[in-house]
Amino acid sequence: MSLESVRKWYPKAMTSIDTVNRLLDTIEEELGLKPNQLMHADSMCCDDVNAIQYPPRALEMLGPFHLGGLNGFPFAGITGMNAFAHHVPEDGAVIIFYAPHIGITKDGTIGEIHRIGQSANSACCGAAKGALGKLIDNKIIQGNVSSLDFQMNTIEQIFLHQKKRILNAPNQIFEATEVMYEAIDERIQVLVKETNYPCKYVLLVGGIFINGDRDMGSFCQYKRFECIDLESSERKSLMEKYYKN
Ligand SMILES: [Zn+2]
Repeated sequence: MSLESVRKWYPKAMTSIDTVNRLLDTIEEELGLKPNQLMHADSMCCDDVNAIQYPPRALEMLGPFHLGGLNGFPFAGITGMNAFAHHVPEDGAVIIFYAPHIGITKDGTIGEIHRIGQSANSACCGAAKGALGKLIDNKIIQGNVSSLDFQMNTIEQIFLHQKKRILNAPNQIFEATEVMYEAIDERIQVLVKETNYPCKYVLLVGGIFINGDRDMGSFCQYKRFECIDLESSERKSLMEKYYKN
């Protein structure tokens, strides 16, 4: 019932428990690496619901090192990326999971969830919904990025650059989340290029992290699952293998 509501929006979504099981199985089959040989970083929103709904098996990997700030943008930057890259086991791999998040309620409402102990639904991702509200009201000023609200202002600027696309979409918060994913993916690619990893592989896993109501748990739809062989610089997509498992 819950997975059905989620799949109306994200047809290939799975529970985050299944997602992590498949992820770890695929890595072991492809590279022969066990979870304790993987240094895991995530770039996810700092929203407490993501901590509550974090899939426990992900903790079998080393880490996580948190790269993310509001809505999963890798605000820890080059310094964050470099720091965790140098904590990796030498015979292992670095794995970076990045995703903006979005709530979907049991009855299929997108951009909201029912949180523990609350009587009404609340926004999820709150930052994305806040920035979208300002976009709709024409309240985002081009180039306005202040130190007082740096992360939020950065998200506002990302949305402003895609204003037409977001406002003309059939569902604006869905589209804004797609825009956010693309901005995060682009930034992760740049950060990866700028970083040296003293190991064999870098695994890049990008997607949308979907929060359900308090009793639904969380879900995930992958958009990218790639392995970079650091010796040959070859990139290989593991998406097909992941969905076959
Ligand atoms: Zn959020």
